[in-house]
Amino acid sequence: MKIIMLGAPGAGKGTQAKKIAAEYGIPHVSTGDIFRANIKENTELGKEAKSYMDKGQLVPDELTVKILLDRVAKDDCKKGYVLDGYPRTIPQAEVLDKAVKELNEKIDYAINVDVPDENIINRMSGRRACVKCGATYHITFMPPKKENVCDNCQSQLIIRDDDKPETVKNRLKVYHDQTQPLIEYYKGQGILKEVDGTKDIDVVFEDIKSILNA
Ligand code: ADP
Ligand code: AMP
Repeated sequence: MKIIMLGAPGAGKGTQAKKIAAEYGIPHVSTGDIFRANIKENTELGKEAKSYMDKGQLVPDELTVKILLDRVAKDDCKKGYVLDGYPRTIPQAEVLDKAVKELNEKIDYAINVDVPDENIINRMSGRRACVKCGATYHITFMPPKKENVCDNCQSQLIIRDDDKPETVKNRLKVYHDQTQPLIEYYKGQGILKEVDGTKDIDVVFEDIKSILNA
């Protein structure tokens, strides 16, 4: 099963993608996580990606597309995957379509997690991420068992550099300008599914499962 998660920054794509990956035994592929891992390792890619991410801009398609294609070509993706944060532009979607078509395969679902802009700033300011394993929490809606400590690996939780309100506002603008058109793109392909992302995390996941199990 190949699934794309769509939605504004902070809509809950990563939260739901991790649950889908665990439930259906497919890898969770997040381009944002790949960039953050490169930033941590101080690679050339990481340095370049950071200069865009810190401003709330998209990393250019030339860089992003290659990373995604390399990742989905790996063996573990043969059984399918759930993409979180890719595609973010129409050209990125077209590249993915072409790659999938060349393998005589198809994307099964594009799930749009719908959350209005008013809710996003609150979601992002409360988001905490594990420095080591990338698990995400929310101080109110999904708190870790111990404050600022990851439940999975006991490492420290941090606020992402790009979750500052000013950067979030820019990311939302970029989302509306460049990423939202993908909703119509996948509607046109007949694979778009919508879920109400303002509901509780577990309720959203139940809604997603009923789509995937239909
Ligand atoms: P995205 O991957 O779309 O940027 P995340 O999955 O990281 O978003 O979620 C953003 C923040 O909102 C996180 O702190 C997460 O714990 C929290 N969150 C995710 N889904 C919900 C929800 N349905 N209700 C409340 N908070 C949520
Ligand atoms: P995310 O973790 O998905 O919220 O992504 C964090 C940041 O990484 C984004 O604001 C972008 O700067 C960059 N990024 C992640 N995925 C992509 C993508 N598909 N295209 C361009 N930039 C991306």
